[in-house]
Amino acid sequence: MRPDILNPYFAAITDLTGIGPKLARPFERLLGREGGARVLDLLLHLPASTIDRRSRPTLSQVVPDTVVTLEVRVDRHAPTPRGSRAPYRIYAHDETGDIVITYFKGDRNWLERLLPVGETRWISGTVTLYDGIPQMSHPDRVVDEAGLAKLPPIEPVYPLVEGLGQGHLRRAIEAALTRTGELPEWQAGAPATGFHAALFQVHQPRETADASPLGPAWKRLAYDELLAGQLALALVRGRTVKDAGRPSTGDGHVARRIEAALPFTLTRSQVAALEAIRADLASHDRMLRLLQGDVGSGKTVVALLAAATVVEAGRQAALMAPTEILARQHLKTIAPLAQAAGLRVALLTGREKGRARADLLAALEAGEIDLVVGTHALFQEGVAFRDLALAIVDEQHRFGVHQRLALAAKGAAVDVLVMTATPIPRTLVLTYFGDMDSSELREKPAGRKPIDTRALPTERIDEVVASLGRAMAEGRRAYWICPTVEESENSDLAAAEARYEDLRQYFGERVGLVHGRMKGAQKDAAMAAFAAGETQLLVATTVVEVGVDVPEASIIVIEHAERFGLAQLHQLRGRVGRGDVASTCLLLYRRPLGEIARQRIEALRASEDGFFLAEEDLRLRGEGDVLGTRQSGFPGFRLAQLDIHGDLLVAARAEALEMVRTDPDLAGPRGAALRLLLHIFERDVAVKLLGAG
Ligand code: ADP
Ligand code: MG
Repeated sequence: MRPDILNPYFAAITDLTGIGPKLARPFERLLGREGGARVLDLLLHLPASTIDRRSRPTLSQVVPDTVVTLEVRVDRHAPTPRGSRAPYRIYAHDETGDIVITYFKGDRNWLERLLPVGETRWISGTVTLYDGIPQMSHPDRVVDEAGLAKLPPIEPVYPLVEGLGQGHLRRAIEAALTRTGELPEWQAGAPATGFHAALFQVHQPRETADASPLGPAWKRLAYDELLAGQLALALVRGRTVKDAGRPSTGDGHVARRIEAALPFTLTRSQVAALEAIRADLASHDRMLRLLQGDVGSGKTVVALLAAATVVEAGRQAALMAPTEILARQHLKTIAPLAQAAGLRVALLTGREKGRARADLLAALEAGEIDLVVGTHALFQEGVAFRDLALAIVDEQHRFGVHQRLALAAKGAAVDVLVMTATPIPRTLVLTYFGDMDSSELREKPAGRKPIDTRALPTERIDEVVASLGRAMAEGRRAYWICPTVEESENSDLAAAEARYEDLRQYFGERVGLVHGRMKGAQKDAAMAAFAAGETQLLVATTVVEVGVDVPEASIIVIEHAERFGLAQLHQLRGRVGRGDVASTCLLLYRRPLGEIARQRIEALRASEDGFFLAEEDLRLRGEGDVLGTRQSGFPGFRLAQLDIHGDLLVAARAEALEMVRTDPDLAGPRGAALRLLLHIFERDVAVKLLGAG
């Protein structure tokens, strides 16, 4: 299926020299490939920044707190005295001054070999002034003359996880680059730098621009990724029009029973969305519809009623959520209503195992289950439906087009409803979804009270804890969200655990903890305890971001609010304001607050309208902070960044459409090259569609 020329790219990383089974684990975590990472994953892991080692001042010229490479002569070693916590010190000099090199917990033998007394060495790192004396603590690099010749002038810096250092990444990526070769050009414009050459430039930069998202190499790769996405969408679209949908018309008997069991009446926009969906389901065209609605706008009920329609027609529906917590929560919401309506519902996640799983799969295939709720486990091999009519995908931006298609491929002419709680600016709908129809739930269900949003500097955390205490004494429930640290998910965890310990000092047993690295059952238990009111304060990493519904929670504290994007803050805030008490959102920020972060917080205080905030987010991202954070990535894309590469999208789309028009089966030589591209960016489901058609 996959062309052989790609084999080196798809080889396991453990095939590379230097990556054994032990290192493979952290690499898999880093690359988000728990099942086994491939050489390609490494190559597409691009640097977060670069270090410029070309600055070679003498000691008298050093600007403190900058990275420099110094030529020094080693004078003497002063090892840490026994029992002391002082660092190991090494004294050195050049003709203009002295420097102290320090190591905490330095090993004497190793350091004496690294920096032998009386010899010249080049040390690279950040110099600080300590009591007026230049000091370099843990130099990044220490080399002799031979090493200096090999020292890269510009060094990429990669995002990491615990267990990996920059050196591991650099060596592995170097091996990956050597192992792979150039591929036939797939871009129409025949750019000067090929795909492999561009990867080479980004990973082994000679100028800072080489490894920058603004530079030509990265732009080429971003265009490739956007082109792959647009091409896949265009191919799917072409196919979709070709094979007509299979109309599902219900008689309304299941839907009526569900509606009768609801403790509320549907909002106008829920009714309108349902009408549109039912019309799509009944028509002979295949449905590809987006259901956009702010957090709490009531998408789940719409999804359930949509499923009811196909069930009335004697067919099946699947609802896929991005996380296990959410899948379970959907089930919890749906189960009582389904029961009232005689709808047979089941849950399928990675945790259903053994006999229970086998029974469930058999029932699904026999058509004894009407609606299956689950995670990505739903589209794995071995899952078969008797007659899947409707695939509902919740919180779509977490999934790639790949997964969406895989679920739709589980049936014949499956209708697809994509739900998203992150309102997507019109300009971007195209990127994610191609030309889909869209329904929006703009009004909030009746009875919701506005959320009082306030921002406070971290120094005032004691006041926050005190007022939390008062609120908890009144029986209120609160979330405490801990910061996201980009470099390593373990540091996220550390922050959450430390905060949890702190808060337990104050509030004892009433505090719970939930984070992404917990086992499924532990997570459920922590959520359940909070939902039941056994714990009143839930410390959480951003796992609660999407969709978690505990209506009694009326306070949310977000630490390091300055690190979150606007859309994410809005999502988090949406965890409260769902019940009948007035809710509060406290944004704790660390000073100094950058201009963009300040504007984000302002926007959030000013509005609760997700559509407005989404536009605002786009505007703010577009304006500054260009090299900022991952924040600016297109969700679902690996290299392309919205603010920088957004303008490539229109061209990528035009090229994709042109290709599908002239060579719809990708049969010609350029078509063959484009198939490679689809494999590389995991749009190969589109290739499969071609094969089948
Ligand atoms: P979303 O998935 O859009 O974030 P949910 O579907 O989880 O929102 O709905 C949030 C809450 O609002 C749920 O508790 C749900 O039962 C309730 N809800 C949904 N529709 C209505 C409505 N029309 N009136 C009142 N409450 C509603
Ligand atoms: Mg939801």
